[in-house]
Amino acid sequence: MRPAHPDTVAAHARVRAELDFSDRGDYDDVRRGFIATLPDAHIDADGGGVSWSMQPYGFLAGESPDTVNPSLWRMSQLNAVHGLFEVKPRVYQVRGFSLANVTFIEGDTGVIVVDPLQFTEHARAAIALYRAHRGDRPVVAVIYTHSHRDHYGGVRGVIGPGDVRQGVKVIAPNGFTEESFSESILAGVPMRRRALFQFGWSLEPGAMAHVDSGLGKAVGRGGDGFIAPTQLIRESVERHVIDGVEIVFHLTPGTEAPADMNMHYPGLRVLNLAENACHTMHNLCPLRGAKTRDALAWARYLDQALDAFVPEVDALIVQHHWPVWGGERIAQYVAGQRDMYRYLHDQTLRLMSHGRTPREIAEELMMPSELSKQWFARGYYGAVAHNVNAVYAHYLGPYDGNPANLNLLPPAASAVKYMEYMGGADAVVAKARQDYEAGQFRWVVEALNHVVFAEPGHQAARQLSADAMEQLGYQAESATWRNSYLLAARELRSSSAASTPKGVSISPDIVSILPFGSFLEYLGIRVNGPKAQGLKARFDWQLSDASGIDTHRLTLSNGALNHLPGSHGAAADAVVRMSREQLGQLSAGRSALLAALDRSELDVHGDAALFRNFVECLDEFDPMFNIVEP
Ligand SMILES: [Zn+2]
Repeated sequence: MRPAHPDTVAAHARVRAELDFSDRGDYDDVRRGFIATLPDAHIDADGGGVSWSMQPYGFLAGESPDTVNPSLWRMSQLNAVHGLFEVKPRVYQVRGFSLANVTFIEGDTGVIVVDPLQFTEHARAAIALYRAHRGDRPVVAVIYTHSHRDHYGGVRGVIGPGDVRQGVKVIAPNGFTEESFSESILAGVPMRRRALFQFGWSLEPGAMAHVDSGLGKAVGRGGDGFIAPTQLIRESVERHVIDGVEIVFHLTPGTEAPADMNMHYPGLRVLNLAENACHTMHNLCPLRGAKTRDALAWARYLDQALDAFVPEVDALIVQHHWPVWGGERIAQYVAGQRDMYRYLHDQTLRLMSHGRTPREIAEELMMPSELSKQWFARGYYGAVAHNVNAVYAHYLGPYDGNPANLNLLPPAASAVKYMEYMGGADAVVAKARQDYEAGQFRWVVEALNHVVFAEPGHQAARQLSADAMEQLGYQAESATWRNSYLLAARELRSSSAASTPKGVSISPDIVSILPFGSFLEYLGIRVNGPKAQGLKARFDWQLSDASGIDTHRLTLSNGALNHLPGSHGAAADAVVRMSREQLGQLSAGRSALLAALDRSELDVHGDAALFRNFVECLDEFDPMFNIVEP
């Protein structure tokens, strides 16, 4: 790793001049109501090792170093604060024990848990800390604010399936289960690989490596699970009383998550804006990839909350970061957040209407200067340049409209031609070295990407590209940009994606409760089209579990696997029977299915050879595919 380049130091000086670092209000708020914590928020993992610890982040107590954007350093310090906090009487949060926050709301007889964190260990430690100071209250309900795993994966740390049978409610926004499956299963493989970059998964904590994740310190590790909702919120506004606590649910689909909701607790004078108004500009499409989010809906729901709920509250909580207190400050904050998403949306569309393309808009669009001086509008997690792309794609898709870009050669093929035109890899590296010295890091990375894709073994290109990636990482205010650049630099230096640990895989808990239709969708994306295109087959596939037998008829033609509930009847080539317990192991792909066939664990009647042919056409995925090289 190289130290900060003089241009990086100069960029940081501009940030210090532009922003009001003497405003320490957030440093007060992040500690307000502190009750207690665990030393270093240290949590052991059930399987051995450490699930979570702030201990390696002790270096953040110091002054902002040259290798970290000073604004990101500030957020990194705020996200290092951890413990149990009282927001108001009856409303408590544990923060800094996971990427997200868990909120505890005390009812008449027990406690309502809002968002039980990402991992079982985190949630278990959080509720133990809460109970140690607030009494051994039973959990009467769990509420998931939205369909992202950092908000529900730890549910088994606070309740078990037995509690649900005994009447503990699990409440979620409409579409919750489908949307969490859609993200974690169908697009799961590429999303997880890309998420390693976004979160800097395996970067060591340190001033030249990992300092934060923008929304919280890090992802951590541990066991995760899923307990399905027992009650869905379906109306745009629903009023319920749970254990004596009045809750007004406000659905906000299409905002930070496809299934999402805010909550107003009128009796407590508290508003919970889930993840729709954290102390950062959020992502309209995270770097890990997602369906693009609707900035217009986001702004509109915040406006509705500002109008209907904000006048009735004196504390605002969110499920990442710290609360805001005081009616006037809350109104300013929510109005600023609303304006931020509205401005991003409207101004991107305005510039699109002038014919600008995403790269041009990203360079041109600046947030209004008053708004951009507000700490909560800084891009610690999202970034203006990337959000502009998301708005563009939301309306017009990925193509910028210029036919020169309609049918580009794939990266490796175009890289070879670039090298031919530019005088060869060595000549490009020599020029890039001068541009590196001149601080042209963005261009150096772009130019050297062609060299690496033409000649992956070109060590000088890889090292210089890594140098430039590091400077871009050091300069980035967004933690997700920093993490991405620094992980890319490491993979370029180590010549292999294999240097990056694999991270989190699909939870067997999730696979084992997948609706059968979702499992078949998952099977469908494994069908290798070219291999399967000559195969025609009709299968009945029966899944048995405690609730009975679920039969789907599968039709394979033209390499496409379609399925509907019901049976092909006499037209079926084969009938496959399996139990729900087998679902999890079979989701691993072709080899698991073939092994199950060999061991006769799958019950196949009829044309078993045809079914085997079909299984032979299923792909297995390498979760660590290359990104920074071909
Ligand atoms: Zn979250």
